[in-house]
Amino acid sequence: MNKLLAEVDPQVVEITTKDLERQQNTLMLIPSENYASRAVMEIQGSILANKYAEGYPGERYYNGCQFMDDVESLAINRAKALFGAEHINVQPHAGSQANMAVYHALLEPGDTILGMSLSQGGHLTHGATVNFSGNLYNIAAYGVDVDSEMIDMDEVGRLAKEHRPKLIVVGATAYPRHFDFEAWRKIADSVEAYLLADIAHIAGLIAGGAHPDPVPYSDVVTTTTHKTLRGPRGAMIMCKAEYADKIDRAVFPGLQGGPFLHTIAARAVAFKEASEPEFKTYQEQIVKNAKALAKRLMENGFRLVSGGTDNHLMLIDLTSKYEKMSGRQAADHLEDAGIIVNKNTIPFDKRKPKTTSGLRLGTPMVTTRGMNEEAMIQIADFITEALEGRQKKSIKLRIQEEVKEFCAQFPIYEYLN
Ligand SMILES: *Cc1c(COP(=O)(O)O)cnc(C)c1O
Repeated sequence: MNKLLAEVDPQVVEITTKDLERQQNTLMLIPSENYASRAVMEIQGSILANKYAEGYPGERYYNGCQFMDDVESLAINRAKALFGAEHINVQPHAGSQANMAVYHALLEPGDTILGMSLSQGGHLTHGATVNFSGNLYNIAAYGVDVDSEMIDMDEVGRLAKEHRPKLIVVGATAYPRHFDFEAWRKIADSVEAYLLADIAHIAGLIAGGAHPDPVPYSDVVTTTTHKTLRGPRGAMIMCKAEYADKIDRAVFPGLQGGPFLHTIAARAVAFKEASEPEFKTYQEQIVKNAKALAKRLMENGFRLVSGGTDNHLMLIDLTSKYEKMSGRQAADHLEDAGIIVNKNTIPFDKRKPKTTSGLRLGTPMVTTRGMNEEAMIQIADFITEALEGRQKKSIKLRIQEEVKEFCAQFPIYEYLN
């Protein structure tokens, strides 16, 4: 049991090494991803993974949980200090499980949820028909205004009055603007609905003070820990003290068994990192970089949905420049040039979700690598050149080489090389 991985399984090492090279040599612009720190990754591979600890600190169904209690309590207390929430559950394995637990805690099947439609930026768990949320609950959906491409709060208020939801979800996976949580609270109060803020994408921005804070206005807040928050894969639920028991029981034993203590420990490490002054600077830089990238892309002739960004991501409307090229084709061309982005529907998209007319780009990863506004101009120009030269393999290969050289100035995980 003491052999090194390289001895036990060279095949897995080889695959992982190839992805390390890909992560080093490409510009990763997927807004939901990040590079977790070495410290976060170290603890994820630790002996804490060996232990079962069903239950919560101080009330476990397994013996031998003294240090599990210590590490989970540490994660909870650090998260509380970071976000100022009254109660926090750090056990959900992922963001989808966190949202599922909230619905399970506060709703009955058939109750109405008002959430953002998937095609306009909402998450699967906000009521998509292909997801449990769309199957178990009655869904009413809001989107963005046709002209501004921003959420129209009067329209949300009107939909709330019409559908009388028991729960309103504010949050998105592809929305480049701020949420005004106070206005959402008012709408929820006007129809006596619970307000759930799903901040999976923007949790890091919020912790770093670079986005308005939902905690004072929401009954419940869910988030992943691996996106802008830059922790391990995982999630957590924050809520008012009055919902604490319901939320905890919904997570365990309602939906999950044993918690993943190794990733809960990694969450504790990430929360510590997020409380350092550098984290605030990092989050501010993410937003500065997104604005710089957006500006240059627009100067290069691309139309951005809603005309720009307030946060870490942006959506390119490809139809503004290329009538025939879908988001899927554009994302593949960019991958050929060493640039990794998402294809994504744009509001009122005429294409299907598998093809789409848009691209979703974000700056969390390139900012973690230390890139600044000047680098964003270079990235926007790489993107523009690759799409202009998409028919020529030689052009894409040349850009791929240039991207690799450019990335060499911003090394990741040097200790692994
Ligand atoms: C990413 C995301 C989730 C779900 O996260 P998983 O960990 O992939 O299940 C939930 N809500 C929103 C808004 C997200 O962006």
